[in-house]
Amino acid sequence: GDLVGLDNLVANTSYLRAQHLDRSELRKLRLTLSLPKPKNSSELELAVGTKYVSLCEQQPIGRKLFLQFLQSSNLQYVAAAEFLEELSHWSFAEDETKEEAKRSILAKFCQPESKSFLSFLTGEEAQRCKALSDKNFNEETINQIKEATRDFLGGKPFSEYLKSPFFYRFLQWKEYEKQKITRRYFYEFRTLGKGGFGEVCAVQVKHTGQMYACKKLDKRRLKKKGGERLALLEKQILEKVDSLFIVNLAYAFDTKTHLCLVMDLMNGGDLRFHIYELGERGIRMDRVVYYTAQITTGILHLHSLDIVYRDMKPENVLLDAKGQCRLSDLGLAVELPKGKTICQMAGTTGYMAPEILRQDNYNSSVDWWALGCSIYEMVTARLPFKDFREKVQNEEVTRRTLEDECKFEHKRFDAPTKDIISRFLRKKAQHRLGSRGDDPRKNPFFKSINFLRLEAGLVEPPWVPKSNVVYAMNMNTFRDSTAVENIKFDDKDEKFFKQFSTGAVSVRWQKEMIDSGLFDELNDPQQNGHLCETGKT
Ligand code: ADP
Ligand code: MG
Ligand code: MG
Repeated sequence: GDLVGLDNLVANTSYLRAQHLDRSELRKLRLTLSLPKPKNSSELELAVGTKYVSLCEQQPIGRKLFLQFLQSSNLQYVAAAEFLEELSHWSFAEDETKEEAKRSILAKFCQPESKSFLSFLTGEEAQRCKALSDKNFNEETINQIKEATRDFLGGKPFSEYLKSPFFYRFLQWKEYEKQKITRRYFYEFRTLGKGGFGEVCAVQVKHTGQMYACKKLDKRRLKKKGGERLALLEKQILEKVDSLFIVNLAYAFDTKTHLCLVMDLMNGGDLRFHIYELGERGIRMDRVVYYTAQITTGILHLHSLDIVYRDMKPENVLLDAKGQCRLSDLGLAVELPKGKTICQMAGTTGYMAPEILRQDNYNSSVDWWALGCSIYEMVTARLPFKDFREKVQNEEVTRRTLEDECKFEHKRFDAPTKDIISRFLRKKAQHRLGSRGDDPRKNPFFKSINFLRLEAGLVEPPWVPKSNVVYAMNMNTFRDSTAVENIKFDDKDEKFFKQFSTGAVSVRWQKEMIDSGLFDELNDPQQNGHLCETGKT
């Protein structure tokens, strides 16, 4: 009734308001915050490791501090850092900007009289660098010089960095990163969706303002239904993936009653919602191509880690505030080393490949089949072998999937779309696009997509969600879960909860510190003079 409507309105308002928070207010609130001292720096150093790639390239805060160290050292180090930066800019640039980037690189880094000349290069690489010109400026030569530069930075500069106050500062951040996460770390907002073991709600980190989605798994329900092993598996797979097109895990923690997975907040709704619930059924073709390109990139990333997704369908593809999409719900994903197959029945009716339905052995080919079904559904608002809301037995869908040819009667189909769908819907896995050692990204369906730029998040989305709309079902659709009684936890359960609750996930957490401005605030020696107590600065 109206009360439910009012509840919903109040919940939506505070949820929307949280997303548009005033950063300066937040800054005032956290003036008293300061970085902890590393408890025992040698112990922490051991745990942190001494790998150049992880410390100086992969971890965002590590990368920043290493850069600051280089900038404070000497011209040669600065040149190396700037060279890598400009190369990356060049590789993503297009047309005129690319030409400009190239000219700048040649002038700054390849002329012996320039102060940014790469004077640290030796032997062959030094010759190569000096000989670099408009004509031989190609990917291969550039990569050789780039690798030589990284090798250089990973040598003397890196070992000097490990002894510098910049690295001490890094250890302080790592100490901070290890903090225990509890529910008090977040504000909680409305429920966004419901899953098998509990609900997903919006949350906000109190001291950074960062919004996330929190998937709460009811401990007692998990135990009752034997879902504990699967929950841990989902968490471990989420932790492993690192793609712009798959939801990232930021924190894993537990409360008395729940296990919680804190992930990217996808507030633009899922693609199923966009196909069926918003105005005219189906999704505009330019959007279909864009989403499919991102989904394809996400699936390829999973496969590169030997992970089969097994739950590809529009409902599991979520949009963020900018209109980019990510795969979510990795609860059915399995790790399957190359050459291995599996025959367990898994997936959703209407999206399962013939080899799953026949209970044959299968591998990653099933994801390409399901993607074919999903493209079909985005275009026509029905599935190839099941009409929208059609009351039909699973056996009949299975029969159609195994025997019938897919029909392309809908008026919105163009030739490239029909072509790519038919290639994904080849009944024999070994003939299917993506499963023959071929690359689906090369299909003409994607001719408008520059994948290099797409993967760097540089291609503008064709559609942007409205910032004042909540793209989720009304909250009352999520009510009425009955409590689970008579479940007691033993030592084994407690051990499992502990294994699950690992706190902040490094890369994601460090990005949050940087994006929220907290990194710059706490690193500012003016505001936090007491942080420079190593006495070396
Ligand atoms: P289950 O594995 O139990 O199906 P899901 O991971 O699919 O749970 O989550 C349930 C629902 O919660 C989804 O259908 C979606 O509506 C919502 N949801 C899940 N993850 C997010 C997210 N990262 N951002 C926004 N909403 C989400
Ligand atoms: Mg789900
Ligand atoms: Mg799931």
